[in-house]
Amino acid sequence: MGGISVRKNHLILALILLAIGVGLVVALYMVRVGLFDSRPNVTFSAVQVEPGEFLIVQVDPLTADRSMRVQSPFIREEPRVYPHGQGAVVLIPVDYRTLPGDYILEVTVQKGGSIVHKLEQVVTVNPREFTIQKLYVSKELLSNRDEALWAEDRIHTSEARAQSSAEPLWERPFLQPLEGRITTQFGQIRYVNDQESGRHSGLDIAAPRGTPVVASNDGVVVLARFLHVTGYTVILDHGLNLFSSYSHLDQIDVKVGQAVAKGQAIGIVGNTGFSTGPHLHWAVSVGGVFVDPYFVMQDSSLAGPLAEISNRLARWSGRFWLAFPIYYGSERFFKRKDDSICLKF
Ligand SMILES: [Zn+2]
Repeated sequence: MGGISVRKNHLILALILLAIGVGLVVALYMVRVGLFDSRPNVTFSAVQVEPGEFLIVQVDPLTADRSMRVQSPFIREEPRVYPHGQGAVVLIPVDYRTLPGDYILEVTVQKGGSIVHKLEQVVTVNPREFTIQKLYVSKELLSNRDEALWAEDRIHTSEARAQSSAEPLWERPFLQPLEGRITTQFGQIRYVNDQESGRHSGLDIAAPRGTPVVASNDGVVVLARFLHVTGYTVILDHGLNLFSSYSHLDQIDVKVGQAVAKGQAIGIVGNTGFSTGPHLHWAVSVGGVFVDPYFVMQDSSLAGPLAEISNRLARWSGRFWLAFPIYYGSERFFKRKDDSICLKF
């Protein structure tokens, strides 16, 4: 009788020790994979950029009582932060006037006005050369460029870009809104009648008057009207503070508030406003900062933290971490095909 009892006790002891051992291994594994780590991940779509590009910065997860902020000396407009998945996302445009060099990008998470997490990341702005264009126009046409008229136009355009959908409405990549000869590149330095007259904010595409102009991506019409400098103009909101605009149109076929699909006709090519011949002035901006339309036409530029696949992996591996130990344990942050990097605060 006694012998059986001792064996039984040994068995219980062994089971207890085994349970402790297994528990310890599981706990260590959980610590290793960061399950008790409440620090959010910070993802940068790239850390090497050129003037005219933009960065996507995502913080994930972020609870409702916390907010995120991104600051850097090259940032010209307070970036707008949008909730995205379990976290928040922000587009940071690099203005064409940005001087090349290394900039510190500071990402902070705040709770009730005080900083709870802070991370500094070096972002390198590579040099980029912009071409010079000389234009000679009549005095009458030049009068269209009057500063007061610009200012009046800007009231309408800034009002149109004052708000943006909190959801990305676009589908990668953006389309060129019509075929034609590119007559002026993005960021080109312009001289009008030998006077430096600023930089070119978009892409000029020459095409015969009446050629259909299509929406470069899914979006909502936020401006559709005549403006002094850009003539008949349409601005589309693509969400997350990303906009595209179509100028010098002969005719507008959409209304403010209307949802448009990528490839849908929104108007026809014209020569209205400050224009020297039928062409489309196509511009893309993050808020009021213009970016290179060619940038959004590359499939990779809008990927990064917003790529569906990486978000799906992040969600799965976060929720079912035991089922995805390879993703969560050994890799920790998922390998991506693009240049994005993911860090912890
Ligand atoms: Zn133009």
